[in-house]
Amino acid sequence: MSGIGRIHSIETFGTVDGPGIRFIVFTQGCPLRCLYCHNPDCRNSHDGKEVTVDYLIAQITKCKSYLRKGGVTVSGGEPLMQPDFVREIFIRCHQMGLHTALDTSGFCLLEVAKPVLEMTDLVLLDIKSYIPDLYYKVTNVSIEPTLAMAKYLSEIGKPTWIRFVLVPHLTDDIENVEKLADFIANLKNVEKLEVLPFHKMGEYKWEQLKLDYELKDTHPASPELVQQTVDIFRSRGVNAMGASGI
Ligand code: SF4
Repeated sequence: MSGIGRIHSIETFGTVDGPGIRFIVFTQGCPLRCLYCHNPDCRNSHDGKEVTVDYLIAQITKCKSYLRKGGVTVSGGEPLMQPDFVREIFIRCHQMGLHTALDTSGFCLLEVAKPVLEMTDLVLLDIKSYIPDLYYKVTNVSIEPTLAMAKYLSEIGKPTWIRFVLVPHLTDDIENVEKLADFIANLKNVEKLEVLPFHKMGEYKWEQLKLDYELKDTHPASPELVQQTVDIFRSRGVNAMGASGI
Protein backbone atom coordinates (compact mmCIF):
# COMPACT_ATOMS: atom_id res chain seq x y z
CA MET A 1 0.00 0.00 0.00
CA SER A 2 1.35 3.40 -0.88
CA GLY A 3 -0.78 5.64 1.34
CA ILE A 4 0.45 8.78 -0.40
CA GLY A 5 -0.13 10.24 -3.83
CA ARG A 6 0.00 13.46 -5.82
CA ILE A 7 -3.21 15.24 -6.66
CA HIS A 8 -4.10 18.37 -8.56
CA SER A 9 -7.34 19.12 -6.70
CA ILE A 10 -10.59 17.76 -5.36
CA GLU A 11 -14.19 18.60 -6.15
CA THR A 12 -16.80 17.85 -3.49
CA PHE A 13 -20.00 18.05 -5.58
CA GLY A 14 -19.40 16.72 -9.09
CA THR A 15 -22.37 15.84 -11.28
CA VAL A 16 -20.93 14.72 -14.61
CA ASP A 17 -18.22 12.14 -13.82
CA GLY A 18 -20.34 9.11 -13.02
CA PRO A 19 -23.83 8.50 -11.61
CA GLY A 20 -25.28 10.74 -8.89
CA ILE A 21 -23.39 13.36 -6.91
CA ARG A 22 -19.71 12.55 -6.69
CA PHE A 23 -16.60 13.44 -4.76
CA ILE A 24 -13.88 13.77 -7.40
CA VAL A 25 -10.16 13.42 -6.91
CA PHE A 26 -8.07 14.83 -9.77
CA THR A 27 -4.70 13.12 -9.69
CA GLN A 28 -1.55 14.84 -10.87
CA GLY A 29 0.47 13.59 -13.83
CA CYS A 30 -0.49 12.37 -17.30
CA PRO A 31 1.54 10.63 -20.04
CA LEU A 32 -0.74 11.95 -22.81
CA ARG A 33 -0.46 15.37 -24.43
CA CYS A 34 -3.95 15.89 -25.83
CA LEU A 35 -4.17 18.87 -28.14
CA TYR A 36 -7.42 19.93 -26.45
CA CYS A 37 -6.41 19.22 -22.85
CA HIS A 38 -8.57 21.38 -20.59
CA ASN A 39 -6.32 20.73 -17.60
CA PRO A 40 -2.73 21.11 -18.87
CA ASP A 41 -1.72 21.99 -15.31
CA CYS A 42 -2.61 18.37 -14.34
CA ARG A 43 0.00 16.84 -16.64
CA ASN A 44 3.39 17.31 -15.01
CA SER A 45 3.88 14.57 -12.41
CA HIS A 46 6.03 16.80 -10.21
CA ASP A 47 3.43 19.55 -9.78
CA GLY A 48 0.31 19.36 -7.63
CA LYS A 49 0.45 18.44 -3.98
CA GLU A 50 1.17 15.32 -2.02
CA VAL A 51 -1.68 14.00 0.11
CA THR A 52 -2.35 10.86 2.11
CA VAL A 53 -5.22 8.47 1.53
CA ASP A 54 -6.24 9.19 5.14
CA TYR A 55 -6.57 12.89 4.29
CA LEU A 56 -8.77 12.16 1.27
CA ILE A 57 -10.93 9.73 3.19
CA ALA A 58 -11.45 12.36 5.90
CA GLN A 59 -12.64 14.82 3.23
CA ILE A 60 -14.89 12.18 1.64
CA THR A 61 -16.35 11.29 5.05
CA LYS A 62 -17.53 14.91 5.48
CA CYS A 63 -19.56 14.55 2.27
CA LYS A 64 -20.74 11.00 2.89
CA SER A 65 -24.39 11.88 3.49
CA TYR A 66 -24.94 13.06 -0.08
CA LEU A 67 -22.60 10.57 -1.76
CA ARG A 68 -24.78 7.55 -0.93
CA LYS A 69 -26.54 7.60 -4.30
CA GLY A 70 -23.43 8.82 -6.10
CA GLY A 71 -19.93 7.99 -5.00
CA VAL A 72 -16.28 8.77 -5.55
CA THR A 73 -14.57 9.29 -8.91
CA VAL A 74 -10.84 9.40 -9.41
CA SER A 75 -9.94 11.39 -12.52
CA GLY A 76 -6.88 13.27 -13.67
CA GLY A 77 -4.41 13.68 -15.12
CA GLU A 78 -4.15 9.93 -15.49
CA PRO A 79 -5.01 8.07 -12.27
CA LEU A 80 -3.36 4.84 -13.44
CA MET A 81 0.03 6.53 -13.11
CA GLN A 82 -0.50 6.02 -9.36
CA PRO A 83 -2.17 2.59 -9.22
CA ASP A 84 -1.43 1.72 -5.59
CA PHE A 85 -2.72 5.08 -4.39
CA VAL A 86 -5.97 4.80 -6.37
CA ARG A 87 -6.54 1.19 -5.36
CA GLU A 88 -6.19 2.14 -1.73
CA ILE A 89 -8.64 5.03 -2.07
CA PHE A 90 -11.16 2.68 -3.67
CA ILE A 91 -10.71 -0.03 -1.03
CA ARG A 92 -11.43 2.55 1.67
CA CYS A 93 -14.45 3.85 -0.27
CA HIS A 94 -15.86 0.34 -0.52
CA GLN A 95 -15.39 -0.07 3.22
CA MET A 96 -17.61 3.01 3.57
CA GLY A 97 -20.17 1.53 1.17
CA LEU A 98 -19.42 4.09 -1.55
CA HIS A 99 -19.49 3.47 -5.30
CA THR A 100 -16.16 3.96 -7.12
CA ALA A 101 -15.51 5.23 -10.64
CA LEU A 102 -12.21 5.51 -12.50
CA ASP A 103 -11.84 8.09 -15.26
CA THR A 104 -8.94 6.95 -17.45
CA SER A 105 -7.47 7.18 -20.93
CA GLY A 106 -6.53 3.50 -20.62
CA PHE A 107 -2.91 4.30 -21.41
CA CYS A 108 -1.43 1.83 -18.95
CA LEU A 109 -0.11 -1.71 -18.91
CA LEU A 110 -3.03 -4.03 -18.23
CA GLU A 111 -1.14 -5.86 -15.50
CA VAL A 112 -0.67 -2.55 -13.69
CA ALA A 113 -4.30 -1.56 -14.11
CA LYS A 114 -5.92 -4.85 -13.06
CA PRO A 115 -5.55 -4.43 -9.27
CA VAL A 116 -7.20 -1.00 -9.55
CA LEU A 117 -9.97 -2.28 -11.79
CA GLU A 118 -10.76 -4.97 -9.20
CA MET A 119 -11.82 -2.17 -6.86
CA THR A 120 -13.57 -0.09 -9.54
CA ASP A 121 -17.35 -0.25 -9.94
CA LEU A 122 -17.52 1.84 -13.10
CA VAL A 123 -14.89 2.78 -15.66
CA LEU A 124 -15.16 6.04 -17.59
CA LEU A 125 -12.92 5.20 -20.53
CA ASP A 126 -11.83 8.12 -22.70
CA ILE A 127 -11.21 6.94 -26.26
CA LYS A 128 -9.89 9.97 -28.03
CA SER A 129 -10.01 8.63 -31.60
CA TYR A 130 -9.83 5.31 -33.42
CA ILE A 131 -7.59 5.68 -36.47
CA PRO A 132 -4.11 5.06 -35.00
CA ASP A 133 -2.36 7.99 -36.72
CA LEU A 134 -5.12 10.36 -35.70
CA TYR A 135 -5.09 9.05 -32.13
CA TYR A 136 -1.36 9.71 -32.03
CA LYS A 137 -1.82 13.19 -33.46
CA VAL A 138 -4.42 14.02 -30.80
CA THR A 139 -2.64 12.47 -27.80
CA ASN A 140 1.03 11.94 -28.70
CA VAL A 141 0.78 8.28 -27.59
CA SER A 142 -0.28 4.96 -29.13
CA ILE A 143 -3.89 3.80 -29.07
CA GLU A 144 -2.97 0.14 -28.46
CA PRO A 145 -3.08 0.12 -24.63
CA THR A 146 -6.50 1.80 -24.66
CA LEU A 147 -7.95 -0.74 -27.07
CA ALA A 148 -6.46 -3.57 -25.03
CA MET A 149 -8.09 -2.17 -21.91
CA ALA A 150 -11.44 -1.72 -23.65
CA LYS A 151 -11.39 -5.38 -24.75
CA TYR A 152 -10.37 -6.56 -21.29
CA LEU A 153 -13.17 -4.56 -19.64
CA SER A 154 -15.61 -6.22 -22.03
CA GLU A 155 -14.23 -9.68 -21.25
CA ILE A 156 -14.68 -9.22 -17.51
CA GLY A 157 -18.05 -7.49 -17.90
CA LYS A 158 -16.98 -4.30 -16.10
CA PRO A 159 -19.62 -1.55 -16.38
CA THR A 160 -18.12 1.11 -18.62
CA TRP A 161 -19.04 4.50 -20.03
CA ILE A 162 -17.06 5.60 -23.08
CA ARG A 163 -16.23 9.24 -23.65
CA PHE A 164 -15.29 10.72 -26.99
CA VAL A 165 -14.27 14.35 -27.40
CA LEU A 166 -15.56 15.76 -30.67
CA VAL A 167 -13.17 18.30 -32.19
CA PRO A 168 -14.17 19.89 -35.51
CA HIS A 169 -11.69 19.16 -38.32
CA LEU A 170 -9.82 16.74 -36.11
CA THR A 171 -11.68 13.89 -34.40
CA ASP A 172 -14.94 14.42 -36.33
CA ASP A 173 -13.52 12.59 -39.37
CA ILE A 174 -16.35 10.27 -40.50
CA GLU A 175 -14.13 7.21 -40.95
CA ASN A 176 -12.68 7.80 -37.48
CA VAL A 177 -16.13 7.96 -35.88
CA GLU A 178 -17.53 5.02 -37.86
CA LYS A 179 -14.60 2.76 -36.98
CA LEU A 180 -14.82 3.73 -33.33
CA ALA A 181 -18.56 3.03 -33.41
CA ASP A 182 -17.96 -0.42 -34.96
CA PHE A 183 -15.36 -1.22 -32.31
CA ILE A 184 -17.60 -0.16 -29.43
CA ALA A 185 -20.63 -1.96 -30.84
CA ASN A 186 -18.68 -5.21 -30.38
CA LEU A 187 -18.03 -4.61 -26.67
CA LYS A 188 -20.46 -6.22 -24.23
CA ASN A 189 -20.07 -3.96 -21.22
CA VAL A 190 -20.68 -0.43 -22.49
CA GLU A 191 -23.66 1.20 -20.77
CA LYS A 192 -23.41 4.45 -22.67
CA LEU A 193 -21.21 6.61 -24.82
CA GLU A 194 -20.94 10.35 -24.30
CA VAL A 195 -19.95 12.66 -27.13
CA LEU A 196 -18.29 15.63 -25.46
CA PRO A 197 -18.22 18.71 -27.70
CA PHE A 198 -14.85 20.47 -27.77
CA HIS A 199 -14.79 23.96 -26.29
CA LYS A 200 -12.00 26.32 -25.38
CA MET A 201 -12.60 26.85 -21.69
CA GLY A 202 -9.10 25.61 -20.84
CA GLU A 203 -7.35 27.92 -23.31
CA TYR A 204 -6.34 30.46 -20.67
CA LYS A 205 -4.43 27.74 -18.80
CA TRP A 206 -2.32 27.03 -21.87
CA GLU A 207 -1.52 30.74 -22.05
CA GLN A 208 -0.64 30.87 -18.35
CA LEU A 209 1.69 27.89 -18.78
CA LYS A 210 3.18 29.49 -21.91
CA LEU A 211 2.27 26.42 -23.98
CA ASP A 212 1.43 26.57 -27.66
CA TYR A 213 -2.32 25.93 -28.01
CA GLU A 214 -2.60 24.44 -31.49
CA LEU A 215 -6.41 24.50 -31.47
CA LYS A 216 -6.76 28.23 -30.89
CA ASP A 217 -8.40 28.70 -34.31
CA THR A 218 -10.68 25.66 -33.97
CA HIS A 219 -14.33 26.46 -33.32
CA PRO A 220 -16.36 24.67 -30.65
CA ALA A 221 -18.34 21.66 -31.89
CA SER A 222 -21.82 22.76 -32.97
CA PRO A 223 -24.99 21.02 -31.69
CA GLU A 224 -25.59 19.80 -35.28
CA LEU A 225 -22.16 18.17 -35.47
CA VAL A 226 -22.70 16.56 -32.07
CA GLN A 227 -26.05 15.18 -33.23
CA GLN A 228 -24.60 13.81 -36.48
CA THR A 229 -21.88 12.06 -34.52
CA VAL A 230 -24.30 10.69 -31.93
CA ASP A 231 -26.39 9.33 -34.82
CA ILE A 232 -23.41 7.43 -36.27
CA PHE A 233 -22.90 5.68 -32.93
CA ARG A 234 -26.62 4.98 -32.58
CA SER A 235 -26.77 3.51 -36.09
CA ARG A 236 -24.44 0.78 -34.74
CA GLY A 237 -26.65 0.17 -31.73
CA VAL A 238 -24.45 2.10 -29.28
CA ASN A 239 -26.33 3.97 -26.54
CA ALA A 240 -24.82 7.36 -27.43
CA MET A 241 -25.73 10.84 -26.25
CA GLY A 242 -24.35 14.35 -26.36
CA ALA A 243 -22.92 15.58 -23.07
CA SER A 244 -21.53 18.78 -21.63
CA GLY A 245 -18.34 19.76 -23.39
CA ILE A 246 -14.72 19.36 -22.54
S1 SF4 B 1 -5.62 12.53 -20.89
FE1 SF4 B 1 -6.72 14.24 -19.94
S2 SF4 B 1 -5.23 15.25 -18.58
FE2 SF4 B 1 -4.08 13.91 -19.99
S3 SF4 B 1 -3.44 15.27 -21.66
FE3 SF4 B 1 -5.36 14.27 -22.27
S4 SF4 B 1 -7.01 15.67 -21.65
FE4 SF4 B 1 -5.11 16.28 -20.55
